[in-house]
Amino acid sequence: MKRIALFPGSFDPFTKGHEDIVRRGSRFFDEIVIGIGHNSQKQRFFSLELMLACINTTFTNTPNVRVEVFQGLTASFAEKVGANFLLRGLRNTTDFEYENTIAQVNSNLVEGLETVLLITTPRHAYISSTIVRDIYRYGGNVDKYLPYNLAAHLAAQPQV
Ligand code: ADP
Repeated sequence: MKRIALFPGSFDPFTKGHEDIVRRGSRFFDEIVIGIGHNSQKQRFFSLELMLACINTTFTNTPNVRVEVFQGLTASFAEKVGANFLLRGLRNTTDFEYENTIAQVNSNLVEGLETVLLITTPRHAYISSTIVRDIYRYGGNVDKYLPYNLAAHLAAQPQV
């Protein structure tokens, strides 16, 4: 049986911390689906279209990784894409408390759905989407936290 993992998250934006979890995971999963969870009640800072493009660029040369957008329960989307594993990252004990709870909920929702938690690489431990958004909002340079060229992607986005 193929080992397929879903890496779900908001990815607002996708950071080098996220990239590291995917690259390390791609060594022991046959396939990884990065799932951008979309909640229509919640306004994103970086659009879904932009993040899809940025994540696609990041993994152009990694054939076993792809990205999709989903709505609703993570466990249901995992079933839909045939994933038997959820991949998540752990930076600290706060992440652990949260991940521990949702891992149990998800395995209750879909029997046999296992959560695999990878401990962050220390040099990425302090990176969070929230911090990147804050730096960006106040005009700081966020390039070193992102695995793609944000400015080039923003310039290529259709203006609304
Ligand atoms: P969510 O809103 O579901 O927490 P995020 O996009 O913030 O989604 O994060 C997705 C996953 O990536 C979570 O498991 C989170 O702990 C993990 N993660 C975020 N930043 C890092 C990082 N710097 N190193 C390792 N894992 C990370």
